[in-house]
Amino acid sequence: MKYDLLLKGGRLVDPKNGVDKLLDIGIKGGKVEDVGEDLDPSCAMECFDVRGLVVIPGVIDIHVHVSEWIGGRLGHKMMAQAGVTTAVDLSGPIDGVLAIAKDYGAGLNIACLHYVRPGHTVSSDNPSMEELMQLINKVMEKGALGYKILGGHYPLTPEATARAIEVANKQRAYVAFHAGTKAHGSNIDGFIEAVELAGKNRLHLAHINSYCRGQIMPTLEETQKAIDLLEAHKNIITESYLSPLNGTSSQCSGGVPESAVTRKCLEVGGFEPTEKGFEEAIRAGWALINAERGGVNVLLSGEEGVNYWRARNTLGTVSFRVNPGESRYILATAKRRDASFVVDAISTDGGGIPRNATVELGLGLVHWGGMTLAEFVQKASVNPAAILGLSTKGHLAPGADADVTVVDLECCKPYLAIANGKLIMHRGAVVGKSAIIITTEKGRTAVESLGFQPCIVDLEQSGFYKMRAGEC
Ligand SMILES: [Zn+2]
Repeated sequence: MKYDLLLKGGRLVDPKNGVDKLLDIGIKGGKVEDVGEDLDPSCAMECFDVRGLVVIPGVIDIHVHVSEWIGGRLGHKMMAQAGVTTAVDLSGPIDGVLAIAKDYGAGLNIACLHYVRPGHTVSSDNPSMEELMQLINKVMEKGALGYKILGGHYPLTPEATARAIEVANKQRAYVAFHAGTKAHGSNIDGFIEAVELAGKNRLHLAHINSYCRGQIMPTLEETQKAIDLLEAHKNIITESYLSPLNGTSSQCSGGVPESAVTRKCLEVGGFEPTEKGFEEAIRAGWALINAERGGVNVLLSGEEGVNYWRARNTLGTVSFRVNPGESRYILATAKRRDASFVVDAISTDGGGIPRNATVELGLGLVHWGGMTLAEFVQKASVNPAAILGLSTKGHLAPGADADVTVVDLECCKPYLAIANGKLIMHRGAVVGKSAIIITTEKGRTAVESLGFQPCIVDLEQSGFYKMRAGEC
């Protein structure tokens, strides 16, 4: 057969190749084989009629959680259902992410950043250059693309944070940062500090919208400040998410939530930042416990939420409705003078946290007039592929990886997802298995020895290190 899979009659939106037209796509051996007006269905093993639907390069989410620590094992299935074909776990641990991908993978391409946390992966809140160097080398040999400084949740000193960014850049690793240090919290002040600490180094500053919740200044002023800073500092790679919900650790020790973000969210809702206040907040429906129900994670509150949280000794993830609509909208749609987006990508910070809303809310932005459909694809697939150095993803010309998301524009829902030429989701039913692991040459051996097919990227040549480099 000429094609393993054929998608017939859809509207193909592929901005990287300047395509927005009714076209068929034939897939063979994991790659796009043909794109044309009337491909013959009798040449295909399997054919999907996608008339009335929109066919786009697979959605790439550069900020998710699918580890046993945060997000959990059901995230792969939830992402496939949301039309995601590639995702970056932004905390690890790398071993756990790989173990979960093996047992619970849904056929997606998965990359991982391992976390930097005092007392866990580094000895203190002020680790030396040598200690950070050892950590980055170790986690890359295990298959991670680099590390994520958990900052706002579990802060380092400002000096150590700057060192961690510096070391990763020296090693040409990927480095992400949830803003916040011993000096500043997870807010606009932490964001301003993060940009300073990065200096001229490359840095992925996570979920920009989360620093624009009106904690220090009015929401709109914080949002404008963030945009101004990003326009001036082109070395900073960013994403923002569209859901009103956040996601943070629900774990308490010594009667207090361990995460500074969790404590802050309790205060914002009018509750004491203690274990007792936390319990009241769950009961009152302010704190929403992420719980496994029917094969996916859902949000629980009231007695049911308290019981679920207690039964796990407070371990797990909690969500609060803390993201204002105005900062989410403005950050998702803001552009530089050259018409490029200020915030590079739409992410979810989802995975196992139930807010994989890129298609659902991103297409809502298209209906609203905040961006065109082609611009949505730019932020949901083209830019993320460039950032990760995935030159054969983010577009659908012949020869590209057959990562495809088919969406229903009218009802803002994913319809079908294909990763590496294999169907992983059709109308909500997930059929994909395992994962392909995106790693560097340093991680190849570890990833292969676990039985995964690796997808090797050269970060030095990736958008993370090259994007806007001439203008820095
Ligand atoms: Zn996150």
